[in-house]
Amino acid sequence: MSESSSSAHPPLTFRRVAAALVQWFDSDHTPDGPEKMRQEPDKVDWMRCIPFIILHGGCLGVIWVGFSPFAAWCAVALYVVRMFAVTGIYHRYFSHKTYSTSRFGQFLLALWGATTVQRGALWWAYHHRHHHQHSDDPEDAHSPHVHGFWWSHIGWITSRRNFPTDYSKVKDLAKFPELVWLNRFDTVIPILFAIGTYVVGSLLAAYAPQLGTNGPQLLVWAFFISTTALFHGTSCINSMAHLMGKRRFNTTDDSRNSFILAIICLGEGWHNNHHRYQSSTRNGFYWWEIDITYYGLKAISWTGLIWGLKPVPQSIMEEAARADHHATIAAAERAAHSHPEYSSLKKVVPAAAAIAVATATAAQANLPKKAEGPAIHKDVSSLNHPDAKTPPSA
Ligand SMILES: [Zn+2]
Ligand SMILES: [Zn+2]
Repeated sequence: MSESSSSAHPPLTFRRVAAALVQWFDSDHTPDGPEKMRQEPDKVDWMRCIPFIILHGGCLGVIWVGFSPFAAWCAVALYVVRMFAVTGIYHRYFSHKTYSTSRFGQFLLALWGATTVQRGALWWAYHHRHHHQHSDDPEDAHSPHVHGFWWSHIGWITSRRNFPTDYSKVKDLAKFPELVWLNRFDTVIPILFAIGTYVVGSLLAAYAPQLGTNGPQLLVWAFFISTTALFHGTSCINSMAHLMGKRRFNTTDDSRNSFILAIICLGEGWHNNHHRYQSSTRNGFYWWEIDITYYGLKAISWTGLIWGLKPVPQSIMEEAARADHHATIAAAERAAHSHPEYSSLKKVVPAAAAIAVATATAAQANLPKKAEGPAIHKDVSSLNHPDAKTPPSA
C-alpha cells in the first residue's frame, strides 16, 4: 500500500479493526449498516476471523495435553451429537421448518444448535435459504462451481459480505427476541460450552482419575478438535455435495447424492434428493439411503418435544422411481455398447436392455400403479401426517 493511500484511509482501517473486535462478541454490530457490508466484494476479513483461526489452532494443543481414550471418545460423541444439531436443527428445522415444535422447544433447539459454534440459527438459516434460491449460480455464496472448492468449503464464511444476518429474509424466526439475542451474541454459548468441557475434565481428574483425563485435555479434544472436525464435516456439504456422487433428479443446480457424505453428515449426503424437495424431514428417500438425522428426529418426536414431521410426497417418490428406472436402462445400454468383445454378453445384454426399455415404457404407461411404491413410503406418510399428533401446550 502506498504512503498516500494509507494516510488517506487510516480512519477507515481503524474503524474496520475496531468493528471487527466488537463483532467478535456482537455479530449485529455493523457501523455502516448490514446492507453496505453485503455489497462489498468477496474478501477475507482476517481480523474478524481470529476466533475461527484460534479454533483451528487450538487443535495443536494436543501436543501438550496428550491423549486418553476417554477424551477421544468425548470428541467423537460431541461430534455426532452436534452434527445432529447442525442437520436436524439448524438445517431441517430453522432453515426449512420440516417439523414443528413449541416456542420453548424451539429455544432449546436453538441452544443445542449454538453449541456447534456455527454462529446463530438465524444467520445459518438466512445463508442456507439463500443457497437454495441461488444454487450454483453467481449469487450463491458457496458454490464450488462458481467460486472453486476452497472458497465453497471455508473461504465464504471468512468474507466480510457474508457476516451479517439479513433478518428481513428470516422474518418467521426474527419475530422471536430470544432467537435474535442468541443470533446476535453468538459466541456466548460456544464460550460457555468450552468452559464446560474444561470444568468437567477438571472434575473428572479429581474424582475419577482412572479415566486419565483432565481439564486442558478435555478442552482440546471435546471442544477444539471435535468442533473443528464438525466444521469441516458440515462444510463438505457446501463443497463436496455439489461435486461428488450421483444425480437422481435433474435439478437446476449440481447437487449430488453420496453415501459417504451421508455417513459423515448424518444423512445430509442425500443432497440431490434434498435440492429436489426441501420440505420433507427426511433426506434419504429410501430405507437404504441411511439418514441418521431423520431417525433421531423421529425418536425425539416420540417424546412430544417436536411433531408434524413432513413426509416425501407421493409425486416426488414417483419421480424418483422413474429417474432410477431410466438410469438403470442407460446403464444397461452403456454396458451393451462398451464390451462388444464378449460374445455371450453381446447376446444377453442387448436383450436385457431391450427388456428394460420395454419395461420402462410399460411403467410410464401405468404410472398410477407405480405410485403405490414400496411399503416404506406408505409408512412414512402415515407416521408423519401433520394431524397425526396434537401439539403439547407451550
Ligand atoms: Zn446445496
Ligand atoms: Zn437445505
